[in-house]
Amino acid sequence: MKFENETQSIFINGKWRAVDSQNTDTVYNPATLEPITKIASGGKSEATEAIQTANKAFKTWSEMTGRKRSRVLYKAYELMLEEVNRLGEILTTEQGKPLKEAKGEIKGAANFLLWYAEEASRAYGEWIPSSVSSKRLLVIPQPVGVVGAITPWNFPASMITRKIAPALAAGCTVVLKPAPETPLSAIEIVKILERAGMPEGVVNLVTGDAEQIGTAMLTNKDVRLITFTGSTEVGKHLMRESADHVKKISLELGGHAPIIVFDDADLDKAAALTLASKFRNNGQTCICANRIYVHDSVKDAFSKKLTEKVKQLKVGNGLHEETDLGPLINEQASEKVQNQLDDAVKKGANIIHGGKKWNGGMDGYFYEPTILSAIDDDMLIMNEETFGPLMPIQTFTDEDVAIDKANDTDYGLAAYIFTETTNRAIRVSEKLEYGIVGVNDVFPALAEAPFGGIKQSGVGKEGGHYGMDEFLEKKYISMGIK
Ligand code: ADP
Repeated sequence: MKFENETQSIFINGKWRAVDSQNTDTVYNPATLEPITKIASGGKSEATEAIQTANKAFKTWSEMTGRKRSRVLYKAYELMLEEVNRLGEILTTEQGKPLKEAKGEIKGAANFLLWYAEEASRAYGEWIPSSVSSKRLLVIPQPVGVVGAITPWNFPASMITRKIAPALAAGCTVVLKPAPETPLSAIEIVKILERAGMPEGVVNLVTGDAEQIGTAMLTNKDVRLITFTGSTEVGKHLMRESADHVKKISLELGGHAPIIVFDDADLDKAAALTLASKFRNNGQTCICANRIYVHDSVKDAFSKKLTEKVKQLKVGNGLHEETDLGPLINEQASEKVQNQLDDAVKKGANIIHGGKKWNGGMDGYFYEPTILSAIDDDMLIMNEETFGPLMPIQTFTDEDVAIDKANDTDYGLAAYIFTETTNRAIRVSEKLEYGIVGVNDVFPALAEAPFGGIKQSGVGKEGGHYGMDEFLEKKYISMGIK
């Protein structure tokens, strides 16, 4: 297919760069594998220029009152909400998720702008009662400086606002590098910020070579904080390389979320929410259910309810109204799903539903929503992140065994339990080694709440006042007054 369309995707110091036609990357629609547009492939020099610009803009932006910064974020929130439909369509076209989910993501992305618009005026310090009568002790929060933000393709809009809204509210300036698969949502968000009156240089966008842009951020002393969402492997690389300048770092990495369904669960609720967690974004979320542990006494009833619901799910192009599951992002993702399924079946798993690629006359990498039983702990699916629509179900009889199994992983992002007993809800939540626990709830990510993992799922929090704290240094001022 001949394809000429080009989209400006590098934004530095308030100006969009013309695309150098010799140096482009193509963005594809993952449902049809047709090219959507070409974008600029930037590298070290663009990233370095963007960092210098952000550093220059930091002085004025950081000295503005929180109230003034808030106005830009609030305006951006309003503009984003006015465009939910258009932005949702762009998101689905580049990422594949069903339109209803894409629009939901845009609203969620806008919520971060709103919440941090409100929070911008509330970066409080502290006056510490001194043990020495001749001293007064103050703590003042100050923005850390230039932030390098690196974002993934699975939530191309909300992962950006979740990072840059608190950074901007705190008074930081930003160089944003979006995922190569989904730069179009990033471009739209930056355009919204531009229209909202964001001063030149405060937010800069560089698309292109991930390693070069990443290295430019890591090796530049002026970048004081790297905020990243993506794979554990790249996160570890960024953490290691940040050591040279002792940069601050905030990482949201992979997960391997367990769902535990106890014998006192409301099974209708548990089945509906397990399905919602597992198949949202076709299983391509870091907090989605990866392993299901069901109490033996309710296994049959739970599986029956779940299977009935899964049978009704419609796979297809996300732009079609009736679609529940869009395509996987690329061939590599599809191979990973197939590999985990083959491994499970080889080791004795039963396929209760689904179990193969879906061919709906489109070229994209579609896969049937799949439920598996007779699951062993040594299967790949029980140990490595799936990022696809496979749901392995294992049974248990003892609460402590279920907790041990849930904790038996290097990941520690999100875990979920279904129980109608308050004591159990509290007891088990406290024992789960995860940054986030959902009790009868699988959608914990909200603008006002702290989102983040422990163990190898990451460091730092995003969302709520915790999310803004990441971007604020706490300066201690000790004053002798006599
Ligand atoms: P995935 O495998 O899900 O795409 P990645 O961790 O590779 O996850 O990608 C998340 C983000 O990190 C993307 O924006 C990607 O371009 C970026 N990225 C990948 N490798 C590097 C790197 N070496 N340095 C900086 N950013 C990188």
